[in-house]
Amino acid sequence: MSTQSDTSSTPNDGISAQQLTAYCDDYLSAHDFKDYCPNGLQVDGGQPIRRIVTGVTACEALIDAAIADNADAILVHHGYFWKGEPAPLTGMKGTRIRKLLTHGISLITYHLPLDAHPKIGNNAILAELLDLEITGGLYPHELHPVGNIATCAPQTAEALATKIATALGRTPLHIAAELPNDDGLIRRVGLCTGGAQDMIEQAAEMGCDAYISGEISERTTHSARELGIHYFAAGHHATERGGIEALGEHLKAEFNLPVTFIDIDNPA
Ligand SMILES: [Zn+2]
Repeated sequence: MSTQSDTSSTPNDGISAQQLTAYCDDYLSAHDFKDYCPNGLQVDGGQPIRRIVTGVTACEALIDAAIADNADAILVHHGYFWKGEPAPLTGMKGTRIRKLLTHGISLITYHLPLDAHPKIGNNAILAELLDLEITGGLYPHELHPVGNIATCAPQTAEALATKIATALGRTPLHIAAELPNDDGLIRRVGLCTGGAQDMIEQAAEMGCDAYISGEISERTTHSARELGIHYFAAGHHATERGGIEALGEHLKAEFNLPVTFIDIDNPA
């Protein structure tokens, strides 16, 4: 919560959580998505927003950091109220939400709309970091594809693994496969950040030589080997820092508000 004494260090009187959310909804086409959680304003802190903290997940450590930063809003990719989870605000969930409300902090979440945005989305940022050129969606008929197909300069799987490690600061888990082409080089890559390992079959179907996502399941190894497609598990957290950080930068410029990206380290 901002106290009256810090308004002198802020550039304006702030905006309401509803205003900020309406802008983001529109910018990210949030209403076009069927998602696993509500997108937009999840917790209304009841204060004008003068300082924003962004982060990947609305965990307690991020909330504590936002309180220390005197933020009025937290913007995340992974918020609360996931489909199928118990509704009561008790235990860990109760503690998190109590902290938000006690400090007048609003929680704003964008999940799939933030994966898919063509400019500041998680996939778009990952593609840019890895010198991949997005050519379309993994599922070509989706209005806003949450996974993409991209082309790249012909390269070995080892070279791509090194590129991923350098770009994300984390060595990916690489499941090698034998490609059906003559030189074994990767030219066409499927990508979908986060926990999208099961879209590997679709990537193979779309003729990709490699598929990059965040997580890996036991079964993914066999899929990669049997489908003849390299798989790179680049980290759920590591592949999803880009979108929310970029959204924060965009809002900073749009509303002239201080926005701080806070990375709560997560090796998974
Ligand atoms: Zn995710």
